[in-house]
Amino acid sequence: MVIEMNYCVECFADKYLREFITERGSAGKCDFCRAANVAVIPAPDLRDTFEPLLELYSIVEIGTNRLPDEDPFQVGEALDDLIDQNWPVWSETFPSEQRIPMLEEIFGPEYDHDRVALRPDFQDLWTDRRPFYEGSARDSWSMFCHHLRHERRFIPKADEFGSSSPAEWLPIESRIIPYIAPDRAQSV
Ligand SMILES: [Zn+2]
Repeated sequence: MVIEMNYCVECFADKYLREFITERGSAGKCDFCRAANVAVIPAPDLRDTFEPLLELYSIVEIGTNRLPDEDPFQVGEALDDLIDQNWPVWSETFPSEQRIPMLEEIFGPEYDHDRVALRPDFQDLWTDRRPFYEGSARDSWSMFCHHLRHERRFIPKADEFGSSSPAEWLPIESRIIPYIAPDRAQSV
């Protein structure tokens, strides 16, 4: 039997989370900060409140949000650091090395959601970048070059390079590229 870990109100700084735990939780002892006689809640009960946060980020993946020549560590960070930079979720006393294990307990091994990866890997690198298919024609061009050179050996297959059809963006890009990136325009 899996023992559910309980987190207490004092583990969190976020006002909404603290109110949520106070209302929904029960009095008890925190399994993490060891506070006693505080409002505690089982980790999976925090899933609905953490889910919208998770949707703001995605795992770093070449072709989706990382260009082929980019260092993954320039693009991505630990998910808990990304969250912590933008949202005051955890209290200052909550140990930073416990933040990822907390996320893993909240979402659990059976977690499935259509807007984030199936069973998201919280140990991976994450980013708040939008996917390239929502992005610029220049990013699409760069991915297309990579696809031609390294994956298809000059025979493009549109459904394999994770972007819209070149026919949609190439007419615009072919007019821009010679001015902004002549090396790229000539090298494919
Ligand atoms: Zn606690």
